[in-house]
Amino acid sequence: MTPRSREFHPSLSTTLSLVVCALLLFMAGITWLVVPLLAGIGQSSGQTREQHMPEILNHQRHALKIEKISSYLNTVYWAQNADMERRARLQAQVLIQSFMLEDRSPLATATADSLETIKRLIEIRSQQREQMDRVGRLLAELASADSPVRSLGQGGAAPLLPLPPLTDIRWPRLAPMLEALLQALPETGDSEPHRQWLDALARHLREVSALNTRADELMNAGQQQLQQIANYLTTDAALRVQQLAENIARDAGAATRYTYLLIGVITLLTLLLFAALHYFVLRPLQASVQALRAIEQDKNDHVQLPPVLFSELDTICRAVEDYSAMTRKLWQANDELHQLSQKDGLTGLANRRHFDLALREALNRVRRHHGTLALLMLDIDHFKQLNDGFGHLNGDECLKALARILKGYGQRSGELAARYGGEEFALILTDLNRQQLIRLCEQIRQEVARLLLPQAEPGPPMRFTVSIGAALLPAAELGQETELLMLADKALYQAKQGGRNRVVIGERELPRLEEPRSALG
Ligand code: GH3
Ligand code: MG
Ligand code: MG
Repeated sequence: MTPRSREFHPSLSTTLSLVVCALLLFMAGITWLVVPLLAGIGQSSGQTREQHMPEILNHQRHALKIEKISSYLNTVYWAQNADMERRARLQAQVLIQSFMLEDRSPLATATADSLETIKRLIEIRSQQREQMDRVGRLLAELASADSPVRSLGQGGAAPLLPLPPLTDIRWPRLAPMLEALLQALPETGDSEPHRQWLDALARHLREVSALNTRADELMNAGQQQLQQIANYLTTDAALRVQQLAENIARDAGAATRYTYLLIGVITLLTLLLFAALHYFVLRPLQASVQALRAIEQDKNDHVQLPPVLFSELDTICRAVEDYSAMTRKLWQANDELHQLSQKDGLTGLANRRHFDLALREALNRVRRHHGTLALLMLDIDHFKQLNDGFGHLNGDECLKALARILKGYGQRSGELAARYGGEEFALILTDLNRQQLIRLCEQIRQEVARLLLPQAEPGPPMRFTVSIGAALLPAAELGQETELLMLADKALYQAKQGGRNRVVIGERELPRLEEPRSALG
């Protein structure tokens, strides 16, 4: 195998393991971030159910209680009835005590103030009623027969009567009327009881009015305080709910973002992984498979695969390249062996095996194309003597010289010059007529006869002759190749018998060809 290139080649399995590990780590990281968020959402919902919802409900309950306390305060303010005031105070007291029992000290403290306000209001109303009793007694004097102020009752005090309900008695409204009554009294001693009566009435009414002002202040302060508590309860509940909702929404939003991030990154990584697998793994594998197919189709194909990243694939690609180079060398060696197996080592002509195949092919070819097939058998005359006289090495030179001459013939497709064996040669020729064949045989014979071969050692040049037996058959008369061989061999034998250095054409009559071979004219 060719040495591995020194470039960086990470292992495919290690790289895949690292990618998977990185992916798992990333997923673990996202899970580590998301799980506490989901747990937080669960915890928040549990906390909401177990703690905040009861608290919110309690707040609502307390807000209702506060509203009731407020209504009891109103009742005490408006009732003008001691019984109703007492009942309202008791009910308010029960509610306020319930705050103390529930250990809600801020509420208990705040509402305890309200109870104080109610008590103060009740006191004020009680004082007012006392004053109003006195006012009533004064008014009753107006109707008494022996009263010194009876005359006032006969129309003098009419603007004052009937007096408004207790809560509506306001001194600024009554003062002008009393002032007018006083002004209307004559400046005599008789009017002194009237003056005193009016002064007493004014004192009581002023007192009731002052108490009303005080009651208004208490009422306003009390209602304001209760309103503040109710607002606090409502706002606190709303804030808690809002905070919880915000917390859950924030955690859920973060969890959703992380989940999207996870899905996005996994999708992106999967796509990248597929693309990387395709580019770095499948592509080199496909190239290797294509190269193997190419080697199968053309053994001489020189395969050069592009560099790859991973060591395993690099090994495969290099192995394919080595296989290609080895196949090419084997194929070339095989080709050379094949060539060698068809050649004669000494003369370089085709050997006997090649000749046999070529003759069979030529026979078939001529049959298909309706030409003629000629076979020449050549044998060096008295070669034994030549060997004996000049030595085998010089004899070999004669064989080579004859081969060189024969190589000049049999050049067309399907024609062949071969060493038949020993000092015998054969020549396959196509599409010749008898005259052309005779002329060509003669030409070869004379060419050989004219040769003057120098010896390896100093000495006279060598000469030798050949006897040629030839046979020629048209396509229509071609039988087995042995028939042509026998005819040629027989003709050669006759040439030898006839005295050697001559040409004999086989006995069978040849048909006349319409288009003679022009090259041999
Ligand atoms: P003829 O004219 O009847 O053919 O006589 P010849 O001597 O040529 O025939 P024979 O068959 O008696 O002798 C053939 C000789 O050819 C014998 C052998 O030593 C020689 N010979 C065969 N092959 C080779 C070869 O490769 N080199 C050499 N130098 N001689 C060879
Ligand atoms: Mg011979
Ligand atoms: Mg011979």
